[in-house]
Amino acid sequence: MKFGIDIGHNCPHDTGASGIQQEDKLTKEVGEIVIKNLQKAGHTVINCTPKFANALSDSLRQRTEKANTEKVDFYASIHFNASNGIANGTEVYALTKKGSEVANRVLEQLVALGFRNRGVKILNFFVLTNTNMPAILIECCFCDSPIDMAKYNAVAIANAITKGLTDKSGDSKPQTLVVKQPTFLKPSTEQVQNLPAGSCISLAPGNYPILNSYFEENHYLVEWIDSSKANRREHFIFAGHCQIK
Ligand SMILES: [Zn+2]
Repeated sequence: MKFGIDIGHNCPHDTGASGIQQEDKLTKEVGEIVIKNLQKAGHTVINCTPKFANALSDSLRQRTEKANTEKVDFYASIHFNASNGIANGTEVYALTKKGSEVANRVLEQLVALGFRNRGVKILNFFVLTNTNMPAILIECCFCDSPIDMAKYNAVAIANAITKGLTDKSGDSKPQTLVVKQPTFLKPSTEQVQNLPAGSCISLAPGNYPILNSYFEENHYLVEWIDSSKANRREHFIFAGHCQIK
């Protein structure tokens, strides 16, 4: 596979957050190991980090242009968060179904290192909206959090990201959607444009076989075995009303 790896910031006019550690230093340490790991595993890697930019916007534009010109199969942007010194944990951003699937895998690997699970989230980051291929933005953990920085280990984080990016074991394994209370299957934002208003489907408690599921901010996007429900295979369901097994 051809990966586009974007080492967050590290480019004059585009510097990362300052915390207990500098974001620039951490993304570079982790990103360079991820690149080596992927190459060792036989993948082609395009380093999308520019060397110089006239402005932050130019830095971001160069990153996505590189990925688009090189036609990479998948794009991953590596970052570290910063907030108020109290917030901690890992979160991964994605806008597409494929992106979300990989984001879940990367998140799972990072959480296994002991970081708090802040979930897979949707936000229109420039690098996600301007790349032509599935893309994720990883906020590994918080560079201003004593809790996170005590756990920081560049090799462990890079190995976790590599595993999440390359592991296909979670693909298309049949799963069970366990509905705990009466709820609704909702259409996705793209689907809703072609549907009459209120096209939610009632769903009774029970076990339903599904092909796949992706967690997206309080909801699961679940892929049904067939399109027997409202002629569509994919539905959103409130995560608080169900479990995936
Ligand atoms: Zn950043």
